[in-house]
Formats: sequence, structure tokens, C-alpha cells
Amino acid sequence: MDARLEAIRDTVLARNPGEAEFHQAVVEVFESLGPVHDRHPEFLEAAILERLCEPERQIIFRVPWTDDQGRVQINRGFRVEFNSALGPYKGGLRFHPSVYLGIVKFLGFEQIFKNALTGMPIGGGKGGSDFDPRGRSDAEVMRFCQSFMTELYRHIGEYTDVPAGDIGVGGREIGYLFGQYKRITNRYESGVLTGKGISWGGSLVRPEATGFGTVIFTEEMLKTRGTSFDGQRVVVSGSGNVAINAVAKAQALGATVVACSDSSGYVVDEAGIDVGLLRQVKETERGRLKDYSLRRSGVSYVEGGSVWDVDATVALPCATQNELDGDAAARLVRNGLLAIGEGANMPSTREAIAVFQEAGVLFGPGKAANAGGVATSALEMQQNASRDSWSFEHTEQRLTDIMVGIHHRCASTADEYGQPGNYVLGANIGGFVKVADAMLAQGLI
Ligand code: GLU
Repeated sequence: MDARLEAIRDTVLARNPGEAEFHQAVVEVFESLGPVHDRHPEFLEAAILERLCEPERQIIFRVPWTDDQGRVQINRGFRVEFNSALGPYKGGLRFHPSVYLGIVKFLGFEQIFKNALTGMPIGGGKGGSDFDPRGRSDAEVMRFCQSFMTELYRHIGEYTDVPAGDIGVGGREIGYLFGQYKRITNRYESGVLTGKGISWGGSLVRPEATGFGTVIFTEEMLKTRGTSFDGQRVVVSGSGNVAINAVAKAQALGATVVACSDSSGYVVDEAGIDVGLLRQVKETERGRLKDYSLRRSGVSYVEGGSVWDVDATVALPCATQNELDGDAAARLVRNGLLAIGEGANMPSTREAIAVFQEAGVLFGPGKAANAGGVATSALEMQQNASRDSWSFEHTEQRLTDIMVGIHHRCASTADEYGQPGNYVLGANIGGFVKVADAMLAQGLI
């Protein structure tokens, strides 16, 4: 790493102790930025990096609620409003027991660059709670969401901060959150949340967007090697919203997706995952993947273990951070991996990324490859602002254009900086320069 940036990195890490995931995200970005600072000494002069690493505002709050037995439960809520140089803070809410400030900050930090890469007018933020929705009734989830919003509402708004979903927050949760916001404020402010239901201000394609976008980005990477998804053997990790839609799109482009996973194990389905059955089990029934294997012949279910043991030519990690380590990466490379597109945020460890890059495997980092979700959220905001709703075809075409544009920006930035094919460098520099220019223009704030 560039010596000037090392000193800044050390200060950032020391100022934010115990936040391993935030450190990881910061270091990964800093490693790309040396050459930018050679060309733009004014960024160092104006302490752009130091400012970028310090969120504009961090909100932590108590979320009290009662469970179905009438017992009082306490969770912790977060919203980190990281950077508003390009637009209102924008980013999802994650409800998962692993959530703490370090997770929210890593996600918020990545979101700044991701959102910049989309070319849409959105800043970066993230939030969530250590609430675990698994095993909770709809009524419990509703009471939790209402309590969470009873604090959050004062910090957000169409022009201020626009949350959406992430792990553990889907259409059901966004509905309860929106209802409570409307009730407290007495405003039907559609643009305050994205991921809404289609009949009350949501956008077509938003549910599919992250998974579809990841596949579209990966297809663009494959094209640079004269190939495509057609005929590829694909492994997807996860089986939530991002994973399911990645499976659907990869198969629509002619690939066979042979495996996917949940936190208990994975299924291998050599005939290609049946997306209809997967949706039924995971979305309609909120069940486990094991149930998928029991309802379809020729499917094996492996309890525990790693889905990365299944060989593939294309891998799409769509579960969670640090799910794919150096050993798994080495195994995938040995077994003939061509490309990897990150549908999740930071699913590959630093060791895994190094393995992929050394092997010359096409590697699409999450902040570029999974930006289709938040980009379509920005399209939802556009529709809300104009009180319009677009067709599926039009919205999907916009998403495709945006993903092709992000791929182009990453690839051409990597070329410009003398590292063709390095999408990590291209994404980090491409996103950073846009935000840094805007911060310079807006003065010391
Ligand atoms: N949580 C998603 C992400 O990681 C989507 C955020 C949004 O739509 O605002 O980008």
C-alpha cells in the first residue's frame, strides 16, 4: 500500500477499534487508491480520505418490543449516514443477530462507492438491528418494525436518507416500516423507503434487481473472454432474494445452476435448480433448503459443509460477508473456475480475492456486481418523484443499461490505471473519484 495512505489507514483503524469488517472494507479500498493520489494531490490536501472514513452521522438506539408471550424484548437499532456528497444517504437495513456497529459501517462504507458507480444521485448509508426475524411470527415482526421506525422516522426522509431492505428485511418488513412512518408523520411520502409493494409505490424489477444485476455484470465480464453464461456450470451460495434471482437469470441465459445453500447446508441438483420450487420453499413457506431436496428427485442435500466444494465454472456468492475464504477459492480455481460475481456484500475474504486475481479468474467485486439492487431503488425513487410507474420491460432495460455501464466504468478505469481486467481497482477508483470530486466542490463539510 502507498505509504501516504498507510498512515491514514492506521489512524482510521485505531479510531474504530474492534470493528473487523469495517477495517477489512477500508483496507481493501485503500489498497487501490495509491495511483489516484499521485494524479490528484488535491485529494490528500483536502483530507478527502480521512473525511470519507468518518461517517457524517451515526445513530444507535434502543428498540423495545413485546413478543407473543407478552415478554419485553430489547434490541439495538443502527443507522449510519455515511456520505451525502452525491445525494441523500441510501442503503438497506439488515436485521440479523450478527449486526453490530462494525457490520453496519462496513456496509455503509461500501455503499458510498457502490452507489457512486451506479451513476444515480444517491449517497451512502446503512442500518439495521441485531433482531433475529427467524422463527418470529408476523405479529412479532410487525411490532419490532413499528418500534424500530418510531425512532428512525426522525432521521430519514425523501431528501435526507432513504432506507431499503437487506438480509432479513424484505417486502413484509418494508411494509410495516412504511406504515408506521406514514402514521407518525401523517405523510404519504413514497420516496422515504424503497422496496415497497408494487401496488403502493414500489417498482417492478426491484425484487429481482440485485440477483439479475449480478448475472448481467458477470455476463459482461465473460464477454471480455469471448464467452457467456450459456453452457456454464454455476454454483450460487445462499437461497434468499439475491440468490434466487441470480439462479433464475443465470439459467435464463443458458447456464445450469447445480447448487445453492442456506445456513444449514446445501443442495446439489445436477439437472439445474428448479426456481419455482425454490421460491415456493424459501419465499412462500419461509422454509429450509432441506425441504427442497425432499420434494424433488435427483437432488442431494449436504448438511453443514461448504457449497464451494461443488465445482463450477462460474461462482456467484450471494449469502453474506466472508463466506468464501482462501482455501475455498483455491479449490474453485483448481476445479476450473472462470469467473466470480459477488451478489452479496464482501463475501470473499482478502485471501480469496488474492487467489482469484493471481489465477487470472474474472473477479467482479460486490460494490460493482451487486449494485443493481440499489440502482433499481434509485429508479423506484424516480418513479415516486414523478408519481409514475414503469413497465417491467422498461425498468429491466434501465437496469441492464446501468449494469453494462458499471462494467464499462470499472473496466475502462482499470485500463486507464494500467491494470486491465482488475475490477477491484476499477470499482474502487471509479467510485472514489466521483465522490471525491463532489466533496471537493462542496467545501469543507
Ligand atoms: N441492501 C442493498 C445493497 O446492499 C440494497 C440497498 C438499497 O436498495 O437501498 O445495496
